[in-house]
Amino acid sequence: MISVEEALKIVQANPHTTAVVELPLMASVGKILAENILADRDFPPFNRVAMDGLAFCFEKIDFQKIVIENIQFAGEAQKTLQDASKGIEVMTGAILPLGCDTVVRYEDINIQQDGEAKWTSLSIPKEEIVKGQNVHVQGSDRHAGEVLLQKGIKISPAEIAVMASVGKSKVQVHSTPKIAIISTGDELVEIDKTPLAYQIRTSNAYMLSAALRQIGIEASTFHLIDEEKTLYQKLKEIIAAYNILLLSGGVSAGKKDFVPAILADLGLEKLFHKVAQKPGKPMWFGKTPTGKIIFALPGNPVSTFLCFCKYVLPTLKSESKHEEVILDKDIIFKPDLTYFVPVKTYFEAGKMMAKPFLGSGSADFANLTDCDGFVELPASTQIFKAGEVFGFVRFR
Ligand code: AMP
Ligand code: MG
Repeated sequence: MISVEEALKIVQANPHTTAVVELPLMASVGKILAENILADRDFPPFNRVAMDGLAFCFEKIDFQKIVIENIQFAGEAQKTLQDASKGIEVMTGAILPLGCDTVVRYEDINIQQDGEAKWTSLSIPKEEIVKGQNVHVQGSDRHAGEVLLQKGIKISPAEIAVMASVGKSKVQVHSTPKIAIISTGDELVEIDKTPLAYQIRTSNAYMLSAALRQIGIEASTFHLIDEEKTLYQKLKEIIAAYNILLLSGGVSAGKKDFVPAILADLGLEKLFHKVAQKPGKPMWFGKTPTGKIIFALPGNPVSTFLCFCKYVLPTLKSESKHEEVILDKDIIFKPDLTYFVPVKTYFEAGKMMAKPFLGSGSADFANLTDCDGFVELPASTQIFKAGEVFGFVRFR
């Protein structure tokens, strides 16, 4: 049986393959960029006025009485300072007039007007003015041709702004994988049915669908009975039509836990089966020769959810964020397994604490509603003390 760390490495080393598609810019939010984005011009593309006020030539200006000879608005072609001792009113976002190098804010001058004539004095000491101030110099942020965004990053509003500014109305991204969620089990009935005394309503497929919906993925759901021929035939069809399969149930040691054998019959490569963890020990992971990925998760809902949060979600989100929490109560756990305990987090003296909610085990999913995530207690240790820091798998 492999460790949690080894299992995670294997999952990360076997990402699902996706096609590259071109999407309109606004449809690319949340997707993974599949091309480098270059600066088509300098950033900013011209010497840009950064404050509404007055522009002039620092070396030549007459600070006693600055005569204003013109106005440069944003969106106008560049004007030229005719008399180097004078100034030009300028607006934020305008190109700096030719012959000017410095801008003082309106707040720092007192403009006076007599008919057409306009002049100003400073309302601050001239020593406070620095040559070049309030000018956002051409190319000072990025140069034309520079890589602004690397392929592989996740597109968020900041990346959208950058792509809009370089004119990318269409962008190449990795397509969202087609995901099938397949629950198995003869004891399960649909949620609009009244279960018989020995049945339960199915909830795992809804839980996984909801978790995927939170990251913008709409998955298809299926339910299969514990019958070998049905499993073989249906799984064959589903594998052909989807990139990623999330199965729940049927991977343990029960007489009707047919999933691992059926997946082998279907020609899938088993990358691991069983992980030294509680809950979720029977987890199975594998792939098809064409790179489709199959996560077969144990059916107990807490196990299903833990395995999803720990292994599936980071691969789908293309990020593995490591969080830590401080345990607020001693826990003793002797088996040689990584123990994932549901916890509720809270802040105390600026530190994130975790209060364990042991519940009654891997079938107690009502317990999860009190919690925010799982604290990860390593297999190598048996006594976990209040005040010690451990990894945290967040689900809320
Ligand atoms: P299995 O992994 O198939 O042995 O299932 C383990 C336990 O999880 C059993 O008690 C199942 O009834 C329960 N279980 C399996 N699948 C689901 C599901 N889709 N929704 C709720 N409980 C499930
Ligand atoms: Mg089952």
